[in-house]
Amino acid sequence: MLKSRFVPRKIFIDEECRNMPLTKRILKNLSQVPTETVSNPQRFLEERRISRDAVQQGKKDLFITSQKGEFIKPCPCTPQYIGCNYFIINLDLNCPLDCTYCILQHYLYDPLLIVHANREDLWKQLDAFINKNKGRALRIGTGELGDSLVLDHITENSKDLISYFRGKGPVLFELKTKTVNIQNILETEPASNIVISWSLNSPRIARSEEKNAPPVEERIDAARRVADKGFFVGFHFDPLIRYPGCEVEYESLIARLLNRISPGKIAWISLGSLRFPPSLKPIIQERFPRTKIIYEEMVKGLDGKLRYFRPSRLDLYKRIIRCLKENGGEKVPLYLCMESDTIWREALGWVPRGKESLESYLSSPLGNSKV
Ligand code: SF4
Repeated sequence: MLKSRFVPRKIFIDEECRNMPLTKRILKNLSQVPTETVSNPQRFLEERRISRDAVQQGKKDLFITSQKGEFIKPCPCTPQYIGCNYFIINLDLNCPLDCTYCILQHYLYDPLLIVHANREDLWKQLDAFINKNKGRALRIGTGELGDSLVLDHITENSKDLISYFRGKGPVLFELKTKTVNIQNILETEPASNIVISWSLNSPRIARSEEKNAPPVEERIDAARRVADKGFFVGFHFDPLIRYPGCEVEYESLIARLLNRISPGKIAWISLGSLRFPPSLKPIIQERFPRTKIIYEEMVKGLDGKLRYFRPSRLDLYKRIIRCLKENGGEKVPLYLCMESDTIWREALGWVPRGKESLESYLSSPLGNSKV
């Protein structure tokens, strides 16, 4: 586990971002960290890509640069399975937490912690995007290409983003984390269209496969404090990982969670089982030689990713859903991440149709709120 809040070993600064307000804020928050100005970002990144142990070393250094393309993109989800119409903001890329199963080891082209400092462009693009989709209960978040809060003591992103999205309902904005880095959230006024959510796993998986993240009980404590502050919270049991006795451990986790957090404060819970492209397997084997999670029986899905056989996935989902209902969570909106309509029907009894149906289902509890 990271002993305290993450501090990079060195900050590299794209010359053209040197005077941007966010760069100045980061340098103020990390005044003790050495810096280096980069005059040719392209060449700098190329050298980093081919350097020895690029993925591991990239998790230690921060690069402040600007986003040249679009900040907002539809979540890539996965072909042939049901998507949840989620939009991601490419704000910060990569993550120092280093979970065994993390797709970013394979997916990110630039092996560095990257902060995009050109925030004025972000706000303009968001204005245009929300305007174009007026009236839609869009769900937008930052936690797909990194953890939304792991750098928050450095960037203070949460304050800026919450204040941008406040009052912009029906648009829902989510910050997704495995950390307890909630100080800025606790200093910010809540709003009914903001959801702070945590990825949870069984304590055993968290200990062995999410080694740099805080223990699950600390994550639940943090969620409780954020819910007590008045925010909606969300939970993502993803990736669910099979091992002997996992069902009992997931059930006990859910009972503890719903004992601590009032279901009325939970905006949504998602479930997803372990899945990864075959090409991630050798990377995991090399970087995490002691892990066992990639050696379970798996099958190639319609999207080419390896996943558990359908009966195993269904069995796990059904047990968790039953447990949620038995512990007072029967009204909490549930959805599955990257699953087929067959699994949706058998596990949840319905299948979302059209892009609006899941959006309105997930936004309904928040729409009724008086936060
Ligand atoms: S917290 Fe998420 S982004 Fe960070 S290493 Fe783990 S899986 Fe990857």
